[in-house]
Amino acid sequence: MSSALYCKNCDAQLTRRLDVIPLSPEGVSRCNFVEPGENRVAEVAPVPKGGKLCVDAEFCTEFPASWQPNSIDAEDTVWINPSDLTSVLHWISEVSYHVGRDGVDGNNGPNKLCKCGALVGTEYADSYQWHVFVPIARHTYWKEQ
Ligand SMILES: [Zn+2]
Repeated sequence: MSSALYCKNCDAQLTRRLDVIPLSPEGVSRCNFVEPGENRVAEVAPVPKGGKLCVDAEFCTEFPASWQPNSIDAEDTVWINPSDLTSVLHWISEVSYHVGRDGVDGNNGPNKLCKCGALVGTEYADSYQWHVFVPIARHTYWKEQ
């Protein structure tokens, strides 16, 4: 079943239609396909375009700390490929949220706003991280498409 993410505040559509990637051995292997180090690829998106991966805290702890989103709350358990976000999302303007080595690292917390101004999630985009968007469960909802 496909679904898309929406803003709870204004009902704007935040992602394209996405399919669930089960947290099966295949799902895990998708997130474990590259080791940090000299030979890693420049852009690392563990979730393929058009997919959403449902993770849990236990799953996340199996991976090196520097390679995972570090602000995952127990209820924020979906990872999305950032290229699946719609144009209603934009970066938070505060400069302190734009720190990172050579990309925004998201380590200061949620950094993506809906067009209505609601904080809806965190994008991790620095070179040492997995490139994912993690929606805030309390501020968003899924609707079947
Ligand atoms: Zn909104």
